[in-house]
Amino acid sequence: MKNKGTIYQMKKNKKASLGKIAVFLDRDGTINEDSGYIDHPNRIELIPRSRQAIKRLNKKNILTIIVSNQSGVGRGYLKRKDVALVDEKLKTELVKGKAYIDDTYYCYHHPDNNCSCRKPKPGMLNKAARKFHLDLTRCFVVGDHYSDIALGYEVGAKTVMVLTGHGRAEMKSKSIKSKCRPDYVAKDLYAAVNWILKQVKKGGKVND
Ligand SMILES: [Mg+2]
Ligand SMILES: [Zn+2]
Repeated sequence: MKNKGTIYQMKKNKKASLGKIAVFLDRDGTINEDSGYIDHPNRIELIPRSRQAIKRLNKKNILTIIVSNQSGVGRGYLKRKDVALVDEKLKTELVKGKAYIDDTYYCYHHPDNNCSCRKPKPGMLNKAARKFHLDLTRCFVVGDHYSDIALGYEVGAKTVMVLTGHGRAEMKSKSIKSKCRPDYVAKDLYAAVNWILKQVKKGGKVND
């Protein structure tokens, strides 16, 4: 039998989780410059205003989660250890601007593996949703590829295409014109966060 305190705590947690929102960020081309398969920390270069953008999300208590396909591992171009070093460097750079990432998910698989985590498949989002008790339809996905938009579309999240990285080229591609279009197109991550915060304000979606 659970005592009253536990039940109260559970109810409290449930209530808190109902209001929780996350912004899922692609990494390469969205937070940092996309320079191909990034296999060394020296190749991490932040896109201007990325730090400020993430800091703004932190301030609003909105979960900020990286979801990134790193198929270079599955293709044999780099090792998981290299991804870990690059990840560490990225976060060190962000922290210099007091910007923090709440959680990170990487898919290391080769596209031919047909895994359930490679974007646009929603494996990484589902995992985060279980961990943080998220309602994905109240969350946002930001990225510079059609696969990021398709990922958000798949789970019913709002989507933002950034024009950094491959964004500009992707917006001209056939797939983006014929299938799911982003809810918003932003110059960069900072502009994407501006739009997201406006949507959050409108919907009264504020995390506890
Ligand atoms: Mg990208
Ligand atoms: Zn995968």
